[in-house]
Amino acid sequence: MLEINNLSVHYGRAIALASVNIQVMEGEFVAVIGPNGAGKTTLLRAISGLIELEKGKVIYNDELILEATKSQFKKVGRGGSLRPNEIVKRGIVHCPERRRLFHDLTVEENLILGAYTFKDDEQVEKDLQEVLELFPDIAERLDEKAGNFSGGQQQMIAIARSLMSRPKLLMLDEPSLGLAPIIKADIIDKICEIQKQGTTILMIEQDASIALHVSERAYLLEDGTIIRSGTCEEFIEDDYIIESYLGFG
Ligand code: ATP
Repeated sequence: MLEINNLSVHYGRAIALASVNIQVMEGEFVAVIGPNGAGKTTLLRAISGLIELEKGKVIYNDELILEATKSQFKKVGRGGSLRPNEIVKRGIVHCPERRRLFHDLTVEENLILGAYTFKDDEQVEKDLQEVLELFPDIAERLDEKAGNFSGGQQQMIAIARSLMSRPKLLMLDEPSLGLAPIIKADIIDKICEIQKQGTTILMIEQDASIALHVSERAYLLEDGTIIRSGTCEEFIEDDYIIESYLGFG
């Protein structure tokens, strides 16, 4: 479904991603783990078309959606990359780190913003009802300002907003960041449910034990480079992963 080929991203002269190769099959739950500053957020921002690529390309369902060119954001067909909104329309939806909600807007207004690329109001209303079935706690408080909610609830709202964009591939950036263990478990359960309903998941996560517990395959990113890839079973038996990321070496 998603093929990231030889992707490099620089910030000025600093190299954030160096020749990264990642594949995600339709229906899979893939995790990218790695320490602070490894380039995980940069990877998702690059796939979303938000940062210029230094090298490489991204193919989605056999379509070239991003490639490194001097003139970024040209329409495909003219040898460039899709714009971020065109990437979302194809079903690649990015749920960003630290939720990025509009705190002064109501929950409902935040959710509807997830549907900003769609003009079919009736379908958007149907989507909203479907999404709320998955998040009953939010459904009861649609008129409250998003800023009034706890960190865990805000993460649920951010995921619900992403679902309003009709993802085929949902990319989540550190959904468990800063949350208590019990809340982390609730969030992860929701993500598993979303996968079961047919959405492919690419999740960035610093908490390797959570990521390797729920995903099927994983990549380890350090200093902008993929240094391991494999099934989660392979990861949890890997001495380096155990010592460096699972905390019981
Ligand atoms: P974290 O978990 O802390 O968010 P990360 O793995 O997501 O880390 P990135 O945020 O992608 O890592 O950052 C990768 C590297 O690029 C870091 O060294 C970071 O300081 C640097 N970086 C990130 N954004 C920028 C930017 N806009 N300009 C310059 N350097 C940046």
